[in-house]
Amino acid sequence: MRGNDFAFRKKKRDEIRIEGLEVFAHHGVFPEETKLGQRFFVNVVLYTDTREAGKKDDMALSTDYGRVCMEIHAFLTSHTYKLLEGAAEYLAEHLLCRFPFIEELELEIRKPSAPVPLPFASVSVTVTRGWKRAVIACGSNMGDKENYIREASRKIEEDEKCRLISSSDLIVAKPYGGVEQDDFINGAFLIETLYEPEELLAFLNRLEAEAGRERIIHWGPRTLDLDIIFYEDDVIRTDKLTVPHADMHNRSFVLLPLVQIAPQWVHPVYRKTAAELLGMLQEP
Ligand code: ATP
Ligand code: CA
Ligand code: CA
Repeated sequence: MRGNDFAFRKKKRDEIRIEGLEVFAHHGVFPEETKLGQRFFVNVVLYTDTREAGKKDDMALSTDYGRVCMEIHAFLTSHTYKLLEGAAEYLAEHLLCRFPFIEELELEIRKPSAPVPLPFASVSVTVTRGWKRAVIACGSNMGDKENYIREASRKIEEDEKCRLISSSDLIVAKPYGGVEQDDFINGAFLIETLYEPEELLAFLNRLEAEAGRERIIHWGPRTLDLDIIFYEDDVIRTDKLTVPHADMHNRSFVLLPLVQIAPQWVHPVYRKTAAELLGMLQEP
């Protein structure tokens, strides 16, 4: 896990560019395309921080563009996608998982021999993908509470689309919402993820289900509750998801752990830091 300062580091916009990498591969909707193959050209911009590698002139601190080229070639020749969109999506994800210094990338795949019965130069798809920062609150008030939370953090860390940056201490909190039940243990995780918010919620719901969570009474006892508190600066209000979490600013059992891992994170609606929100809640 990296230090807390990581959460507040500004994203770096240094670039490593690879242009016109040629790969002979078999992607396409038509049987001739998957059988005969054709040439693809890849352009990629890797957004990263080259400062330390540059200052120390040390390859181990940077991303080896030669290896990135080999990886792109190996990936595109060992998979077959019908769509350029599919090839771009999965290749982007693969590179982000494989090369830890890449924070974000812009990937273009061009297909100059696409089956279009008119003269044209090439078709292409470009995607921009990257690691997104999020805060997850966790709680448990049934069974081996610490173990449910430990298991959740282990599974988040093990998932290739998540990186656990830091975890708060666990605190004991009285139940919330008026249902008579055992005390809670609460905490928070600062993560980076390749999941979109809805995908992250589905992933967290799966971890809750694996912990044997049953939704019987709202705000009732549970083995594991995982809520998305923040996702970048996003403000989301859909039927399934409200981000930032709608009631976080009223809950000391969310704000106390949050302040340990991300005191400077600014709530994108209230425009207050986590530390300020906690201060406001504690005022008489
Ligand atoms: P609370 O959300 O007030 O803490 P809860 O955690 O007990 O209550 P759940 O039964 O776990 O509530 O979740 C109910 C629904 O809340 C979920 O099915 C999910 O779709 C929705 N939800 C909305 N916003 C979020 C969020 N930010 N994180 C997690 N779930 C959310
Ligand atoms: Ca909750
Ligand atoms: Ca929940």
